[in-house]
Amino acid sequence: GDRPLAGRTALVTGASSGIGEATALALADLGADVAVGARRADRLEDLSGRLRDKGVRAVTLDLDVTDEQQCRDAVQRTRSETGRVDVLVNCAGLMLLGPIVDADTEDWRRMMSTNVLGLMYMTHAAIGGMVEQGSGDVVNISSVAGRVARSGAGAYNASKWAVNAFSESLRQEVTAKGVRITLVEPGAVQTELNDHITDDASREKSKKSYDSMDSLQAEDVARAIAYVVTQPARVAVNEVLVRPTDQT
Ligand code: NDP
Repeated sequence: GDRPLAGRTALVTGASSGIGEATALALADLGADVAVGARRADRLEDLSGRLRDKGVRAVTLDLDVTDEQQCRDAVQRTRSETGRVDVLVNCAGLMLLGPIVDADTEDWRRMMSTNVLGLMYMTHAAIGGMVEQGSGDVVNISSVAGRVARSGAGAYNASKWAVNAFSESLRQEVTAKGVRITLVEPGAVQTELNDHITDDASREKSKKSYDSMDSLQAEDVARAIAYVVTQPARVAVNEVLVRPTDQT
């Protein structure tokens, strides 16, 4: 039908902007109830209103993924309000580009605790229930930066490499139990990602590079995710690499 996710619940982290926000809206269009998590509660309240306008249930989660207890609570609250968690989309992330030499290592700690540990905590909190029900999707947002390392992106590369390894290991662990693990690897997407880069030269360089292309829109990545989670149970889309056509 035109609402293939009716009766199912998706939990999206990093839903207050960019890819996460677009994904929450796309999954609601397909009929899913959606729980949205991030730190900026005002943004999530507004988004939840737009989700409810689509006729689905929305749950707003106060969520800092670097805090394991908050991850557990987010999954628990989603289960208690909607009865289930069928789809987990791990979008929360930071791209704090910069050279390794003379780096501010606080950037490294923020990226590793958000992109890697946060994704691992969320997955850990949700995966047991999926294995128990014999179905579910975990969609982990990695990056082209998880496949190609570049000078000036070392710590971000390291964080996304970790996401790829964790996802593939987990895939082997749970796929025979009916739980699908998907890695989505976008190229340049116009979002707020660049705005948070602390190294001035790296931020300006990255923005310029994004502006030099016909970059992807968040909705383009959301469509890829919608494709992944609407496949028949026998079909596991393991990996999606999606770049702007003019990104070399
Ligand atoms: P945005 O900056 O627009 O979105 C990032 C989201 O992550 C925000 O909702 C932010 O919400 C949330 N977030 C950050 N830290 C935390 C935290 N500690 N706890 C909970 N939520 C957090 O960027 P994108 O949408 O582009 O990024 C989403 C993902 O896509 C990231 O993992 C990024 O690495 C990946 N990606 C992006 C690409 C791009 O070109 N844009 C390319 C490849 C991958 P809040 O601040 O409210 O907590």
